Amino acid sequence: MKHLFIANRGEIALRIIRTAKRMGLKTTLAAHAVDLESVASRAAHQTVQIFGDPPVSAYLDIPQLIQAALDNGCDAIHPGYGFLSENEAFAAQAEAAGLCWVGPSSGLIDLMGDKIRARELALQCGLPLVPCVLDSSDEEFRDEIIALGFPVLIKAAAGGGGKGIKIVRQEADLAGAIAQARSEALRYFGDNRIYAERYIERPRHIEVQILADGYGKTLHLGERECSIQRRFQKIIEETPSAAVDSDLRSKICGAAVSLAKTARYRNAGTVEFILGPDGEFYFLEMNTRLQVEHPVTEFVTGLDLVEWQLRIASGEALPFEQSDIAHNGHAIECRINAEDVLSGFVPSSGIIARYIEPEGEGIRVDSGVCELDRLTSAFDPMLAKLIVWGPDRASASKLAEEALRNFCLLGPETNIAYLRALLKQPDYVSGHIDTGFIDRHQDEIFRCMHDESLLEVEVAAAFIALTLPEARVPYSKLAELGAWKN
Ligand code: ADP
Repeated sequence: MKHLFIANRGEIALRIIRTAKRMGLKTTLAAHAVDLESVASRAAHQTVQIFGDPPVSAYLDIPQLIQAALDNGCDAIHPGYGFLSENEAFAAQAEAAGLCWVGPSSGLIDLMGDKIRARELALQCGLPLVPCVLDSSDEEFRDEIIALGFPVLIKAAAGGGGKGIKIVRQEADLAGAIAQARSEALRYFGDNRIYAERYIERPRHIEVQILADGYGKTLHLGERECSIQRRFQKIIEETPSAAVDSDLRSKICGAAVSLAKTARYRNAGTVEFILGPDGEFYFLEMNTRLQVEHPVTEFVTGLDLVEWQLRIASGEALPFEQSDIAHNGHAIECRINAEDVLSGFVPSSGIIARYIEPEGEGIRVDSGVCELDRLTSAFDPMLAKLIVWGPDRASASKLAEEALRNFCLLGPETNIAYLRALLKQPDYVSGHIDTGFIDRHQDEIFRCMHDESLLEVEVAAAFIALTLPEARVPYSKLAELGAWKN
């Protein structure tokens, strides 16, 4: 592998480019017109314009991307996460065009992308599964769900990203939820198959990072806890999990390795589980790509996951053993989104007037933006990730809170103040978290955020007074300017 084509954008494109360049690879980035001036675009050796309207369609256009990679002399494609990263047709067509695909085989992507088939494989490997009802005629499906008992979750077989999942707590809501889930599954994923799972109350989301070289060596890099979610989407992730002791770790990581081994998996991958309050865990799905939250694992293991993805894709065997992988300290990631939290988390756009990342020991920022960038609502609202490391959970969460305080992003609304308020919740601090944490603590988080925001207006006022002495904006006026909040 000599010349990598990056079929992605934003923070993950930049993150991949950095490692690829450090490894001596040439990098070509695909970018829509709205991204031609991005930080990732400036970091790549070259950028090739891709076309599409809406812009997101350019990043989903398989023939265009493959042609661009070939025209520019690339010999490999990294898909990042999201977009086409779990699209078996993209992987297959890349390989058919003679490009090295940085990921597992297309057949494996296909298998794991179908949650029903992935469940069957997990069952063969002896992994524990949440009782479920598979899709059938609407009437039969309904009857079987009633027999399974409420509450249930209805999911799309081809689903991902928390999209289209529905909780049904009573029979009266079932028929409507099935119809809605089916139409959403078709709209989001082009496949209307759905299934229902027993809803585990107050679970934690625990996932295991896998690294497998395709020559039979399949290792795990420990677990990540991703229970802080809003609408089934992760916001804060950490490793290790406060709920996983060494006995549970060896069981859950062993289960993940056994699934990946049986599947003859190759690449970095993630096996997701939910962990019930009774300590029982259940297989959810396997993601055949790099995860958004991979940096927390990198922080505690010292391994660069993108580097190992590239080495494995180039045919290298993993030169270390399970016992060589050490886990040191605690890491936490906070996803920074351009969104107006107080108006129902709607995406926010506009020009970033001021952008200063926090710096210091144990602080890493993976960002796709810089000052004067214009954020559009054309893409996912996540613009950066703050990742911190500390010797233990308490010091890492304190550092995360401090670093967020020093994260200056003026212009579009962000969730920075919300994240800070969340990290201060006593139940978060004590590690009493589960996937219902946000719903239960939302009012308290908003209250805490409100107090913090007032403080931030003063900080913004002081900042303006220092940097723009001519801008004599009275404090009272600033308090009205929601846009100056952090
Ligand atoms: P997606 O692939 O869309 O992310 P998942 O199946 O991974 O969907 O589930 C997303 C989230 O939904 C999980 O992290 C968990 O919080 C919740 N969840 C999924 N299945 C269950 C279940 N059976 N009981 C309770 N919560 C669940």
